[in-house]
Amino acid sequence: MNYRRLGLAGLKLSELSLGSWVTFGGQINEETAKACMTYAYEAGVNFFDNAEAYAHGAAETMMGNILSRVAWRRSSYVVSTKFYFGLFDGPNDTGLSKKRLTEGIAGSLKRLRLEYVDLIFCHRPDPETPIEETVWAMDQIIRRGQSLYWGTSEWSAAQIMEAYSVARREHLHPPQMEQPQYHLFHRERVEVEYRPLYEKIGLGITSWSPLASGVLTGKYNDGIPKYSRLALPGYTWLQEEATPERIRKVKRLQTVAADMGCTVAQLAIAWCLKNPNVSTVITGASSVKQVKENMGAGVIAQQLTDEIMEDILKII
Ligand code: NDP
Repeated sequence: MNYRRLGLAGLKLSELSLGSWVTFGGQINEETAKACMTYAYEAGVNFFDNAEAYAHGAAETMMGNILSRVAWRRSSYVVSTKFYFGLFDGPNDTGLSKKRLTEGIAGSLKRLRLEYVDLIFCHRPDPETPIEETVWAMDQIIRRGQSLYWGTSEWSAAQIMEAYSVARREHLHPPQMEQPQYHLFHRERVEVEYRPLYEKIGLGITSWSPLASGVLTGKYNDGIPKYSRLALPGYTWLQEEATPERIRKVKRLQTVAADMGCTVAQLAIAWCLKNPNVSTVITGASSVKQVKENMGAGVIAQQLTDEIMEDILKII
């Protein structure tokens, strides 16, 4: 496993990490989640991603139970959580206000059974809270020792720059990382919009959905299998990820993968790893078998030549 700095921060993350959206606290039970985390950890993964909203807090509870059962050395892993969507429907139960963030981190730490998380993200921008208020609240969380770094998820480059400027002006901790969607079919933001921020503010990237929710595994090439994410109750809206055009491209990518002796999932994850601005590619999995396959992407990334990268770009 290779480790990369989170932008210009001193923190080093495994280039492949494991997230908990859809799976933890919902689709899979604690034993399967524990086996997935353990396999990943033993393969060198040191970053586990979470959010308070995942399975309405149950993903944090499950990860907290697992971390306390496996009892790994705290300095050997990094845990994140995110705030915005909230757990309830009241007027102060969503967004990025001081009240929301202060109460949010307290709840997350309790569910995760940790004294601090390493990373916290503003899960979306909040147009109803002044950016100064959010920056101040995130800074306070860091000063209280409840998190070490803070960042954003799916904020525009302009919003990130505004938060950064406020923090610098007020001598507060600035945002240091973004968590954007990034895969073969979704590239613009990471490759174009954020480009100036990598040097200017040392932004780190923890990218999500490297397989477009599984479309880039080829599992949806002939329809939607019964036991797959796109068939899960509550997630059928994700079926729009599997457009006929994408499926045609996945089939062509499968021939590139076959030539390399790997799976298309490994090829797709490896492709994300080739971007040096990506600090870590957060993978997702509903079984140990998938974790095992996905962890093989690191080796494939080293075999991806410029020529093969060009072939891939011609297909997508
Ligand atoms: P992917 O796009 O990689 O999708 C993961 C899903 O694809 C798995 O749960 C599994 O679903 C299927 N899959 C994975 N590997 C394989 C394989 N080798 N063979 C067959 N099927 C496979 O990633 P996610 O969408 O899960 O995103 C990764 C993480 O990023 C999340 O867990 C979360 O932590 C984070 N994230 C952050 C967001 C944000 O807004 N900040 C938004 C979304 C995710 P199944 O078996 O059920 O079909």
